[in-house]
Amino acid sequence: MYRRKVIPPPELMFPIEEWRVVEREFSPTFLARTETIFATANGYLGMRGGFEEGSPAYERGTFVNGFHETWPIPYGERQHAFATTGQTMVNVPDGAIIRLYVDDEVFDLGRATLLNYERALDLRAGILDRAVLWETPKGKQVQVCSRRLVSFADRHLAVVSYEVTVLNDCAPLILSSELALQNQPRMLGEDDPRLARQLDKSVLVPQGRQAEGYRLLRGYITRSSGMTLACGFDHLLETACEYSVDYENDEVDRVVFSIEAEQGKSVRLIKFLTYHSSRTVSVEEQLDRSRRHLNRVCRHGLNGILRDQRHYLDAFWRRADVELAKVHPRAQQSLRWNLFQLLQATARADGSGVPAKGLTGQAYEGHYFWDMEMFMIPFLIYTDPLCARNLLLFRYHLLDAARERAREVSQKGALFPWRTINGQEASSYYAAGTAQYHINAAIAYAIRKYVEVTGDEEFLRRYGAEILVETARLWYDLGFFSKQQGGSFCIHSVTGPDEYATVVDNNTYTNLMARDHLWYAAEVVDGLRSRSDRAYEELIYRTHLSADEAQEWRRAAEAMYVAFNEEMGIHPQDDNFLDREPWDFDATPADNYPLLMYYHPLVIYRRQVLKQPDVVMAMFLLGDHFTAEQKRRNFDYYDPLTVDDSSLSPCIQSIVAAELGYRDKALEYLQYSVMMDLADVSGNVKDGCHVAALGGSWMAAVYGLAGMRERGGQLSFNPRPYVERLRFALTVRGQRLEVCMENHTITYLLHGTVDLLIQHHGESLQLRDGEPVRRQIEEAPAPLDPR
Ligand code: BGC
Repeated sequence: MYRRKVIPPPELMFPIEEWRVVEREFSPTFLARTETIFATANGYLGMRGGFEEGSPAYERGTFVNGFHETWPIPYGERQHAFATTGQTMVNVPDGAIIRLYVDDEVFDLGRATLLNYERALDLRAGILDRAVLWETPKGKQVQVCSRRLVSFADRHLAVVSYEVTVLNDCAPLILSSELALQNQPRMLGEDDPRLARQLDKSVLVPQGRQAEGYRLLRGYITRSSGMTLACGFDHLLETACEYSVDYENDEVDRVVFSIEAEQGKSVRLIKFLTYHSSRTVSVEEQLDRSRRHLNRVCRHGLNGILRDQRHYLDAFWRRADVELAKVHPRAQQSLRWNLFQLLQATARADGSGVPAKGLTGQAYEGHYFWDMEMFMIPFLIYTDPLCARNLLLFRYHLLDAARERAREVSQKGALFPWRTINGQEASSYYAAGTAQYHINAAIAYAIRKYVEVTGDEEFLRRYGAEILVETARLWYDLGFFSKQQGGSFCIHSVTGPDEYATVVDNNTYTNLMARDHLWYAAEVVDGLRSRSDRAYEELIYRTHLSADEAQEWRRAAEAMYVAFNEEMGIHPQDDNFLDREPWDFDATPADNYPLLMYYHPLVIYRRQVLKQPDVVMAMFLLGDHFTAEQKRRNFDYYDPLTVDDSSLSPCIQSIVAAELGYRDKALEYLQYSVMMDLADVSGNVKDGCHVAALGGSWMAAVYGLAGMRERGGQLSFNPRPYVERLRFALTVRGQRLEVCMENHTITYLLHGTVDLLIQHHGESLQLRDGEPVRRQIEEAPAPLDPR
């Protein structure tokens, strides 16, 4: 049951366009939200959409993925193996600032008389533009056009172009271009566990400053984590007017341009910004890199950078665009913005993970969660497999830390941290953190999907198998063959995806995912053994795998305890769930959501209420382990109890509702999912976008409306005729599959030389290059993946 509302921004101020997100009026009411909505990023570097002038602002933010400070987690009552090292993504110096003074009058949108205003994020060009006509108190009309981008082609680069023209007079102008140390998050003191810890401004210790021409470079080292950062900027000033330049170095680093602006003659300042961070490289070396980088980008020039950006995005949209018609007037715009933000969160993450908020805010402290594997990687596998591979490889690089974490919590194998940047567990609340062992299964699930869809067996041999062995070991060690349960393999004291029921026994989701994980790990080990190639020897060498381990995993999987309540025909979420008192929804004021903000955790834990789908999520991921009847009954039972206090919910609910043929629910949840951030469905988009939910909106379209599933690398589709049109493309084993649903008909079109076998409503279709295959979309629900 969805307890939030879709309140789209007013069309008058935010007109609907398919390829741009536009703001026609400056409004303080939307200031905080739009800093997120207009954020620009590339997965490595991100800037919130604050104004160039620096104010007004809700919370300015510039972030470098993985660049973080560490701090000892304070506990009143600390216990053995509690997480010790807090990690917080640092708000790095803000280089986007260019302050404007006309006749010594500062230009500040909060106070200025505006004759015209438009700000637009162009999703095809990858550029944020703003055009303002300002009338100064002296009656001078000043046209200000600014443009900003964070480059996809060059991940260390951002550019700001700032153009000023005094239309009806001449005037002295000042353009003060700055690099300013930022306040760290302002959220301390609020009772919202989703926000970030306050870091001191002094977290960045200055180490080196170089100024030369219009250029300035700054080096820093973080006080505790010892990470290095170099940032800097260079300028080009284009004007026919007279000007002079000053350098100021007080609290803020500035290059100040004083221009005698003549009427109608434009003054354009182009600012190239560079950010380089590292765990190992010295600040000096980083400064050298930054200098060389600025030399290169200045030579390349703004036009070259804009061309590269467009080129990158053209390729992205060819692979990843989704057309969606008639769900909501704003649905197409929202979905494209979602996909664009997904790109901005992931494209150049390269050797890092993807924070829950991408690089659009500091909430969740820049941590990586299962969000990556379950909600982002599916999209990436089908649109940018290399990026998916990089993220999985990043997990591989955290494997040693995960091995160590398993030791700390007295287990064998490897336990990936619930939330982390550097590989160490950063969750100080174990009940909704470390206890979410299911993150191990999420990683295994994503590896399998990646390997099966892309055919990248080499990844499996070199990296995936080792992760699978160590994470499967953890399950085998964590669970036990229970005498009480007739020898079934039980897993106790874990938390499933639903964080409103913590430290429970036999969470059905966890047991099912662990079972699948154990089977898959055993299959992969046997496969490698049968080929007895070098990869197998290396695996033995690295994991000390014993001859009978895979067999043990199989035994545990076969005996896995999966509870089922015959009378109700449902899977209990865990051993005690059905005994708990139902949550009293009637007595809960509408303003008391999300519940976690208004009730002590124990009040929530002892009741039947779900933060997000749990059994229902398992029904999507492991659909062939449930009968159609079980799916229906489970959904009917759990859906009304799910309050969707997590933005990860509606996508999953929409997918399962579509599978069950619940048209209205599928569409309602689809709307929430697609418009999660543009309509601020969760009410906290000001703190950053919900990247997992954005990935989920792609999933709701592809897995929900088109009913796609994949098993063993084979795709099946059970489309639903719920929307006027849905069109998308998938990259499958390097080939392109176009899917178009329109007027109760679905067309599959393959571009690629190797035939592709798919299933459509259970019928096998052999697709050939360039030959469209059309089929009817069935109205009635059909069981998916019949096996
Ligand atoms: C959800 C988790 C999710 C996290 C980060 C929480 O509210 O319950 O499932 O991983 O947010 O997005």
